[in-house]
Amino acid sequence: MTRRLPLLINGEFVASHTDQWIPVTNPATQAVLCEAPAATAGEMEQAIASAKAAFADWKEVPVSERARLMLRYQALLKEHQEEIAEILSQETGKTFEDAKGDVWRGIEVAEQAANIASLMMGETMGNVARSIDSHSWTQPLGVCAGITPFNFPAMIPLWMFPLAIAAGNTFVLKPSEQDPMTPNRLAELFQQAGAAPGLLQVVHGGKEQVDTLLTHPDIKAVSFVGSVPVGQHVYRTATEHLKRAQCFAGAKNHMVIMPDAKKEQVISSLVGSSCGAAGQRCMAISVAVFVGDSKAWIDELKDEFAKIRPGAWNDPDAAYGPQISPQAKQRVLTLIKQGKEEGANCLLDGSECTVDGLPDGNWVGPTLFSGVTPDMSIYREEIFGPVLCCVTVDTLEEALELVNNSPYGNGTSIFTACGAAARKYQHEVEVGQVGINVPIPVPLPFFSFTGWKGSFYGDQHAYGKQAVRFYTETKTVTSRWFDSDIPAAGPNMSINLK
Ligand code: NAD
Repeated sequence: MTRRLPLLINGEFVASHTDQWIPVTNPATQAVLCEAPAATAGEMEQAIASAKAAFADWKEVPVSERARLMLRYQALLKEHQEEIAEILSQETGKTFEDAKGDVWRGIEVAEQAANIASLMMGETMGNVARSIDSHSWTQPLGVCAGITPFNFPAMIPLWMFPLAIAAGNTFVLKPSEQDPMTPNRLAELFQQAGAAPGLLQVVHGGKEQVDTLLTHPDIKAVSFVGSVPVGQHVYRTATEHLKRAQCFAGAKNHMVIMPDAKKEQVISSLVGSSCGAAGQRCMAISVAVFVGDSKAWIDELKDEFAKIRPGAWNDPDAAYGPQISPQAKQRVLTLIKQGKEEGANCLLDGSECTVDGLPDGNWVGPTLFSGVTPDMSIYREEIFGPVLCCVTVDTLEEALELVNNSPYGNGTSIFTACGAAARKYQHEVEVGQVGINVPIPVPLPFFSFTGWKGSFYGDQHAYGKQAVRFYTETKTVTSRWFDSDIPAAGPNMSINLK
């Protein structure tokens, strides 16, 4: 019988009583790996109630004890990195090396959560008025919720719950129903690290379970990562219900190539950053903007694209894996078809891609378009496949105008040997994460993940200091002690404080 994934409620992995089970498949073979439950309304209620009850104790636990839990957790994650990557690569189709990277980028955030004491420290000022001092504290919010996408089933849950819990909150995680085995393994290791029952709950399901979290009065803050339409729905619903929300959404990332850039670096970076993980990364480069004479490199780019091929997660020669589902593959194929119909030049078409021995995989071969213009669907839509659109412009100013007109603002790169061009680009571009001669600028966890515009709804971003602000309230205390004969305060503001 197919394995059924449990829920994590109040520190126990429990079998769901649902009658709705969601098959989780290996996207290279369509083999069913397990079934995930769509948690019932009662199970959702139990998870939230358990998180609420656990918060009462956890918020009083000293910060260094909370930090030590994260130290133990990150050590366990490191010990089990390869085993988690193996689960991850089977349910996502990512190559094993890429899967290890997904886990590693999450471990780094858990590691950062162990620094929670210094991250949560407030401010003090003596003598804000005569004999009066002020200090501020940060205190946790209560029960926080996280809703995560399929494309980073280790890294993105780990962006959320370790920092939220280290800050003194409790957490309900609703992972993607497409690859829930990895988050469940992360949760098992969290319990093994010594987490008290109720600190972390894992519930499975889709829209119905998400909507429960967005509207439940005991959930104080919602972190979401996923597509634009769902992100907008989550942000609107959560804030309408007076919750804090941070929603990271879709992207269309441009790389600007100046004619003085190093050609070999440009070409290898474009291949890796557009096709890696089958283009299913929110920081993938999906548009290459060739400035001036650099357009002459497109032919060589095509040759390099033609050399790579997708394959199974355990194939060491595969450059990347399949699309997550047959529906995702179909969406990519439809956009490739539209690109051709709308007049783009398809230099390499991966629509008919097959992989020996794996006829049922959701394969799309590397696909390269030139002559792309901003009115085309392949330019406007997030394709989320191994497809790169080449655009040509004459000047850096034109490139900046193009990028700044995009509704998205997740990430961008410029490749150049000129400091002045790099300075101008980083200063004027309206995108939240910029790489200079670096293709995928995902910031390390002591910074924050700072997407802008249509790629982010909210104000405080993921991980780093911003996440700690997101998961805490600031309390400012002003105090005065009567050890002198200063007269008591009267009715007028400040008048007795001089
Ligand atoms: P998705 O929006 O389909 O799903 C994300 C989560 O929302 C899942 O947990 C899913 O169960 C839930 N969900 C789906 N439909 C829902 C609905 N109607 N109402 C409420 N909840 C719903 O996203 P995905 O396909 O899993 O992930 C890919 C998307 O995520 C891409 O658009 C990608 O750019 C984006 N992404 C963005 C970032 C970022 O940092 N900006 C990072 C990773 C992925």
